[in-house]
Amino acid sequence: MNALDEELSSRLKDIREEGLYRELRRIDSAQGPHIEMDGKPFLNFSSNDYLGLANDPALKEAATEAVKKFGAGAGSSRLLGGSLTPHHILDETVATFKGTAAALCFSSGYAAAAGAICALLNSNDVIAVDKLVHACIVDAARLSGAKMRVFGHNNLNDLEKILRWADQRHASPSLSQTDRRPRTLIVTESIFSMDGDRAPLREMVRLKEQFGAWLMVDEAHATGLYGKSRRGLAEECVVDKQIEIQMGTLGKAFGSAGGYICGSRPLIDYLINRARPFIFSTAPVPAAAAAAAAGVRLVQSKTGEERRSQLWANVAALSRYVESEGSAIIPMMIGEEGKATQIASSLMDQGIFIPAVRFPTVGRGEARLRVTMTAAHSRADVEQLLAALRALNLVNKT
Ligand SMILES: *Cc1c(COP(=O)(O)O)cnc(C)c1O
Repeated sequence: MNALDEELSSRLKDIREEGLYRELRRIDSAQGPHIEMDGKPFLNFSSNDYLGLANDPALKEAATEAVKKFGAGAGSSRLLGGSLTPHHILDETVATFKGTAAALCFSSGYAAAAGAICALLNSNDVIAVDKLVHACIVDAARLSGAKMRVFGHNNLNDLEKILRWADQRHASPSLSQTDRRPRTLIVTESIFSMDGDRAPLREMVRLKEQFGAWLMVDEAHATGLYGKSRRGLAEECVVDKQIEIQMGTLGKAFGSAGGYICGSRPLIDYLINRARPFIFSTAPVPAAAAAAAAGVRLVQSKTGEERRSQLWANVAALSRYVESEGSAIIPMMIGEEGKATQIASSLMDQGIFIPAVRFPTVGRGEARLRVTMTAAHSRADVEQLLAALRALNLVNKT
């Protein structure tokens, strides 16, 4: 073993001892409620494919057509020479769906967050983030060099204190000498990815307006699912027009891959000029863009509405017996990491796949089984899940 491998083996041993070791599981089938792993069938409650679109014929057809017409690869970054028709159609489709002046799609939601936050902020600015925001936002905030302040989860008093502090800081003589006024950006998720609860968007909009801050909302777990036109929680709360930067992924309810930022024309033109993950990375494959656009169209159709109703009916069926926030993400709190892994493996023995989510995805000692419900699950699937949970004493209500 060379020195690198020796050191890494020792680090891996520590990870194992903490009950935090992770391994890939190979899935030999398409995404859906029923999957195959190692030749065995499993009932799947691990996927963010909320509307069951990842394996939908309309999306597969769109991807296939795009391959036939535009090939397998995009060839270069979009600014260099790879800005293919499917990417333009996707940007326009997302903007129309979200009701914003413009949209820009990235290769992932992670890249969208990094691109937007690092383009907008520099070390003179302040970024205020909810304690539970996704890793991509934390990483982007760090990379931007802005002063990061974390407010307690959904804690508006805490946020207000940070905004006051930021205002004072921005007024300090050393910062007022800089070429542009220092800014404050607030970032939150709308539906939180590991807890399934909601951010108080109306109150946050009020605060950001009071302090002249900007607001960015990550709707990764809400677009396609909330609001009259299924644009997201911001639409449901009737504040979408007041949020400067709306972000989301094309890899969850939309069934494909990629991420987007939506907002004003100047915002999008600025990102095309300054968002580094957009500028310095090969454009997504045409198939991904075309499938995503087909996903966005499907979500807006009558079928999309039916899928959403089916999803909420499944969530309601489980929520009769299991504590939930009413979203498609239903975490069952376990606490200790080793115990969560053990319960997940007992469920695997019963043919049910629910991932144990552990540190660093959630805090230490906050391990949980994260059930994600989808529209593609049948009532019988939900009953089978409940029976398995009962057998492990994980159902508290009767
Ligand atoms: C999944 C997720 C992302 C990242 O999106 P990808 O397209 O998977 O890179 C960003 N934010 C939240 C809250 C997410 O859950």
